[in-house]
Amino acid sequence: MKILCVEDEAAISDTITYALETEGFQTHWVQLGQHAIDALKNDSSLALVILDVGLPDMNGFEVCKHIRQFSQVPIIFLTARNEEIDRIVGLEIGADDYMSKPFSPRELAARVKVILKRSQGNKQQFQGETDFLIDEKRALIQYYGQALELTRYEYLILKLLLQNTERVYSREQIMQCIWQEPETSLDRVVDTHIKTLRTKLRQVRADVDPIKTHRGLGYSITGSVCES
Ligand code: CA
Repeated sequence: MKILCVEDEAAISDTITYALETEGFQTHWVQLGQHAIDALKNDSSLALVILDVGLPDMNGFEVCKHIRQFSQVPIIFLTARNEEIDRIVGLEIGADDYMSKPFSPRELAARVKVILKRSQGNKQQFQGETDFLIDEKRALIQYYGQALELTRYEYLILKLLLQNTERVYSREQIMQCIWQEPETSLDRVVDTHIKTLRTKLRQVRADVDPIKTHRGLGYSITGSVCES
């Protein structure tokens, strides 16, 4: 498995890649945040990212936010600053773990293994059990074990469709259920949100298309649903 190491200091990166390669991982090293984003877009075999917070072109938090727009790859932050606030910020914007410098490369490699095992375990579990997991308290929907980054309307539409899988909802019904002032919006708006929603679902599973269009009628969804 290949790990992306984003670190501007060669000495630190050497220590990390040595520790990971000793454990049998392949590594790919970049020094800039933008290069990390490009690498992830072009190489789907990258299984995890080790991301330094202090990078020359943009900080690691920004890089993480960019990555989360298109990928749920596990991310471990590395930082020279060890304030608790950074830890919270890091985890809130979607990091999976966090290590403060100086750190033990062996411990880092051990955490990489744990996170990879966990993320793969999740995927298998969800593939076997349920396609969608609705976490209403956190206003979050997972699809095959990956949390979807949805806008408010995308979230509400998906949640509505999932309440009754296979049931066809007309555009008007969707508008009535979701928009506070439906008469002021065009029902074209529903199609637009469905389109972006489909794109996001396809990013997780390109081989499945759970939202069905019923011409002249509306939309329905297929799949198994679980609520937490
Ligand atoms: Ca740095």
